[in-house]
Amino acid sequence: MSVFTAAADQSVCAPLPVLGRDVTVPLVTGGEVSYAALDYAASAPALQRVWDDVAAYAPYYGSVHRGAGYLSQLSTDLFENARRTVAEFLGCRADDQVIFSRSTTDSLNLLARALPAGCQVFVFETEHHASLLPWQDAHVTYLNAPRTPQQAVATLERALADRDPYGPALVCVTGASNVTGELWPVRELAAAAHAHGARIVLDAAQLAPHHPVHIGDLDVDWVAFSGHKLYAPFGSGVLAGRADWLRAAEPYLAGGGASRKVTRRQDGGVDVEWHDSAARHEAGSPNVIGAYSIASACKALTEAGWDGLVAREQQLIARVRAGLAEVPAVRILSLFGDDAPRVGVISFVVEGWNSSHFAAALSAEYGIGVRDGLFCAHPLVRTLLGSDPQTQGECGAPEAAPGEKSLNAIRVSFGAGT
Ligand code: PLP
Repeated sequence: MSVFTAAADQSVCAPLPVLGRDVTVPLVTGGEVSYAALDYAASAPALQRVWDDVAAYAPYYGSVHRGAGYLSQLSTDLFENARRTVAEFLGCRADDQVIFSRSTTDSLNLLARALPAGCQVFVFETEHHASLLPWQDAHVTYLNAPRTPQQAVATLERALADRDPYGPALVCVTGASNVTGELWPVRELAAAAHAHGARIVLDAAQLAPHHPVHIGDLDVDWVAFSGHKLYAPFGSGVLAGRADWLRAAEPYLAGGGASRKVTRRQDGGVDVEWHDSAARHEAGSPNVIGAYSIASACKALTEAGWDGLVAREQQLIARVRAGLAEVPAVRILSLFGDDAPRVGVISFVVEGWNSSHFAAALSAEYGIGVRDGLFCAHPLVRTLLGSDPQTQGECGAPEAAPGEKSLNAIRVSFGAGT
């Protein structure tokens, strides 16, 4: 069924209004065309609702937690209400904390800094670099790419069975791959982690814009996501979850807002009492518009209704995949196979083409914005391409000689605004 006939189906949402729908871009062949934004996985366009909410609040903007004036009080209320909205959106447990950060990368680095001494970390090599790399200071075990969700669980179980059962341990896993769009078996991985006394953090950067993420239902200990992938492009992110490790850790940043009491010592030094709340890791003046816009996006998605949003996106996925399947030279990249449940993120190569040239042509000749490269998931993309790391450059555009394997890929991604 095409998305256009599906639009009449009551169970399918209409696309949510986003900014940028009316943007036209010049073509190298002359003239202009309506821009087709198909790079939601990098940054999704802002929801019109988010934009309107931010514009309505902007004249009342003031400092958070720092002023007695009306606008400061209002901004503080908005900031703290945003925290409550996010907690509700994620189904947080009573004693979970919601910390506003800059992004998923920032959230996971924050958690990495809060690990208890001796913590072992387990992470699949297939992760985005944001969840692959922050653990370098811990005792980290990189797990090989599984080829089925069941294999992922079995691989993790084997690794956890070998660990020191008395020390703390953390598993970090993505909910939906930023390369293949495939969903990971988060509940099962969480159960495996907990069965072995480990904790688990969910990188929901690509999951949260496409599916409800309920921390309690998934039984994960923490969730991290970014506002700019959730239609709220104002430079903020979230780390939500268990308070104990966060409370016990040194503040992520030292400074005002994180400190409850600072006193000068007789010996000339300074003593600090840090907050126990989320403020402990939010030193400095917070990004109130970023937090407010995330809350606005959370409300918009919830009010639109996940069932309709998911149904619509699944139709778009089927349509894009069917279209790509008609082109013989296209190979869609997949870890778990064609039938794996997925979100609207599809990477592929066109055999005989350099992916970067192909992506540039889509932009210049058709006004279609996609991404090319290794998508900050180098080990995964190399596994999927079956290519040799020695022959590849950074995220750029390595040249494949005619007849050689592609050295990078093209990604189309879309969502509730498409
Ligand atoms: N995790 C995944 C799965 C991602 O796709 C991304 C970004 O593409 C990140 C983490 C990092 O997000 P950010 O750049 O907003 O920190």
